[in-house]
Amino acid sequence: MDRFKALMISRDEATGDRSVAIADLGPDDLMDGDVDIDVDFSTVNYKDGLAITGKAPVVRRFPMIPGIDLCGTVTASRHPAAAVGDRVIVNGWGIGETHYGGYAERARVSGGWLVPLPAGFTCAEAMAIGTAGYTAMLAVMALEPFGIGPEKGPVVVTGAAGGVGSLAVALLSDTGFAVHAVTGRPGEADYLKGLGAAAIVDRAELTGPARPLAGERWAAGIDAVGGTVLANVLSMTMAGGAVAACGNAAGMDLPASVAPFILRGVSLVGVNSVTAPQAKRVEAWNRLARDLDRRKLAAMTTTIGLDDIVATAGDIVAGKVRGRTVVAIGQVAGRPPRQTAAGDDPVRRHRRTGGPATAP
Ligand code: NDP
Repeated sequence: MDRFKALMISRDEATGDRSVAIADLGPDDLMDGDVDIDVDFSTVNYKDGLAITGKAPVVRRFPMIPGIDLCGTVTASRHPAAAVGDRVIVNGWGIGETHYGGYAERARVSGGWLVPLPAGFTCAEAMAIGTAGYTAMLAVMALEPFGIGPEKGPVVVTGAAGGVGSLAVALLSDTGFAVHAVTGRPGEADYLKGLGAAAIVDRAELTGPARPLAGERWAAGIDAVGGTVLANVLSMTMAGGAVAACGNAAGMDLPASVAPFILRGVSLVGVNSVTAPQAKRVEAWNRLARDLDRRKLAAMTTTIGLDDIVATAGDIVAGKVRGRTVVAIGQVAGRPPRQTAAGDDPVRRHRRTGGPATAP
């Protein structure tokens, strides 16, 4: 493939104006790296939405090919860990932020960033999981040292109808936890129950100012939104419990009290997927391949093409996208994708569920 298509964000250095368009590029346009990849699938995460809309300074170098995830096949390698024909995942390490990312038919990256596609996974499934699902698994792993089993009580997941939240609900419920799913979209209750949620909690219950301590409701939690929602979750976490914080869809602030920490021994543990060490990444992806119910994954996934990314980016920062959105990269230039997510048409308009959430 000499020429290839890529979604590119450009910025006029004089005016600061940004533009996003599909560009026609050649191999020499790619950034440095020792592995070339034909990209089959990517995905749209919240962070990609911020990058494309410019609502947060995710992109730190212009022009930029956004897309913090990709999955494809190695076509050239000067790195000992990768051989031609290997199926690989790349997520984080600055792709889509400082290094050209996944919204292109071809990528060139460092071989040290590659995770082998776990056996039995398709690239479409890996991207249905994407950074959001891999982060949900990192959050589950972050809670494990606290020894909180299903017998300790229900666990809470915030931003439940989003990508991280949907995966967290599925993963926790499949390991026996009673999952309480917090959502601002009550219309998604059936969807969340289908993923395994035992109860639906209206987000409005958690958006007022948090008391230092409130009634103990949850043994543990995974929080994708931050702000007053996380502060309230902390105040409602049972003694000895733990909460994994991995997102900021409601904001970067945390208007909380130290009371849950010093009076209930509650722990707040952070999750950063971007620079997680390689061993932890491989463990997370292998556990996803082993533990995640593929039918649930298919039920939460919608597939789009490169042309649809900009519209989806606007929707995801507005809190209107349900579950996960896969991008079938090869579709645009007529190169058929090698695989599609189970039960999916190759390209299907994503669902716009019209929720009431507002962008941070
Ligand atoms: P999504 O947009 O798919 O999900 C976010 C969900 O948060 C929405 O679906 C909505 O859920 C809820 N939400 C949206 N706006 C608000 C609001 N104003 N107040 C309260 N809740 C809100 O995003 P992702 O799942 O891809 O990402 C979730 C968060 O995790 C993002 O902040 C993202 O940046 C972060 N993240 C962090 C990573 C890390 O390494 N730490 C890696 C990946 C993601 P509902 O409608 O159900 O209420």
